[in-house]
Amino acid sequence: KLSKRLQTIASFVPPGSAVADIGSDHALLPVYLAERGRVSFAVAGEINAGPFEAADKQVKMAGLSNIVQVRLGDGLAVVKPDEVDVVTIAGMGGSLIAHILEEGQQKLGSVRKLILQPNVGEDQVRLWLMAHGWVLENEVLLEEDGKYYEVLCAVRSANADQDNLDLYRPRPLDGGVILETPELIRFGPILSTRPDESFYDRWSSEIEKLDKIMHGLENGGTEAARKRWQEMNDERNRIEEVI
Ligand code: SAM
Repeated sequence: KLSKRLQTIASFVPPGSAVADIGSDHALLPVYLAERGRVSFAVAGEINAGPFEAADKQVKMAGLSNIVQVRLGDGLAVVKPDEVDVVTIAGMGGSLIAHILEEGQQKLGSVRKLILQPNVGEDQVRLWLMAHGWVLENEVLLEEDGKYYEVLCAVRSANADQDNLDLYRPRPLDGGVILETPELIRFGPILSTRPDESFYDRWSSEIEKLDKIMHGLENGGTEAARKRWQEMNDERNRIEEVI
């Protein structure tokens, strides 16, 4: 059964799309989409030989070679111009996702939707989108096996700069706390506006992580350790204010 994380990503793919899934590993996502008739065509891109072969095997076993093409290569280099209208990149760090998008910009001409799931560094992805004419349409936070995942869904906009100004404009949350732009980039402009239980849990667990590190620093005694402790404490208290 497909993970909740990949199912959530799949749910954002508009029916009938042509999709490129970059860093596809075993091609689980494209196979799932193709089996359900949700895509007309898909590319499963992989940079590493092991996962590439696993993906190839998976697609052949499922009898989906006519719909899913498995290709070996770096990032969006495996995609031909005008071939796909949706790109998914999941299960890697936000800076790598931003790097893949940056390097592959000339392949995004026909792409209308980006569905991105960074494991860490979500802010890197939001910054890249903002700087390149993309606007967040939806953000979802989900928990699976004790881990939290953000799925970011972005579309092009003719007024991207204005839309992003509006999206990231400092604003008060329910409790009255004002979130500044860098904080909206970190917490998510959509996620923080309608925080649910998982938003609270996710940032509570972030506080717990900081508390553990700060506890370790307390025995450090050096000036640098004290400074780091103070920075983390400020961050910790700010997260507490937000949630
Ligand atoms: N997307 C799948 C998922 O979310 O379950 C697989 C995630 S897996 C942890 C990350 C995959 O990305 C690995 O199989 C790795 O080989 C691949 N990868 C890393 N950098 C890549 C790049 N620049 N281009 C294509 N694939 C890449």
